[in-house]
Order: sequence, then C-alpha cells, then structure tokens
Amino acid sequence: MSYILNNIKKHTGCILCEEAKKNDDRKNYILYRGTHSFVIMNLYPYNNGHLLIVPNTHESDIDKLPADELTDLMKVTQASVNILKQAMKPEGFNVGINIGKSAGAGIPEHLHIQIVPRWNGDTSYLTVFDETRVVPQLLEGTYAQLRPYFEKLRTPGS
Ligand SMILES: [Zn+2]
Repeated sequence: MSYILNNIKKHTGCILCEEAKKNDDRKNYILYRGTHSFVIMNLYPYNNGHLLIVPNTHESDIDKLPADELTDLMKVTQASVNILKQAMKPEGFNVGINIGKSAGAGIPEHLHIQIVPRWNGDTSYLTVFDETRVVPQLLEGTYAQLRPYFEKLRTPGS
C-alpha cells in the first residue's frame, strides 16, 4: 500500500490525486487500488454505480500515458464492468473518456475512464433528485455493495 501511495506523484489541486493520497478508502469512496490505476466512485453520479477508473499518473494527454499504464487502465475497466454486471445487473453501460473541457470533462487535467451502468428507461439521478440530497447514503450503500467484489480482485494470482 505505501509503495502504491508513494508512486503517486503529488499534484496538489487535482481532486483525483488528492483523493488517492488519502488513507481512508471507504471514506473517500475508493473501491480498488491496482498497480497503475485506481477505482473511485463518482461523487455526483449520473446513475447508481457510476465509477471512475483513474491512472495513478497525473496526466491529461492520452498520448503520454505509457503502454503498460494504458493496459492496466483497460484491465481495471474490464474488471469493473464485470463487477457492476454481477452486483447491479444493469442492462447496458456507457464507458468513455471525456478529453478536454469542451467535451464535458469535469477534471480535464487528470485523464480517467467513466463507467455508467444503464437500465432500460433510467433517468439521470441528477435530474430526478436534487444533487445535494442524493449523495451520502446512496454512495455509502453502493460502496458497501461493490467493495467485496473489488476485494476479491486483490487475491494474489487473480
Ligand atoms: Zn491528478
């Protein structure tokens, strides 16, 4: 753990780097830490189970992310989709990267992959509920639901 934490370059002011530096994963909604990537819940979810897959490296430019880190990012994305399938039984997914502010990137300085589980007829939480009302209980419940699956990902040899 300390090895992984030390590997993260300290970029103050970047919310994703700041969250990654903290120790209390539950409190910070970090579900998983891999070799080159981590998984954190979106605090303003479009849908329940909205996850961000984030490279440990603070990088905005997809061209500058080394091949092994890109591979790890996609492997963790794949594992996360599979976990969401098992845990939440969605009927589809939106998986994507917003590059640049004009593309809707909320944190353009630190590349990340968004995974949004979708159900037939769903509507964005943020349009259904008031943004400030949704968050704490919903996020805690979803964290508790997903975390055991991500803990199994850590099993040596898997
Ligand atoms: Zn960052």
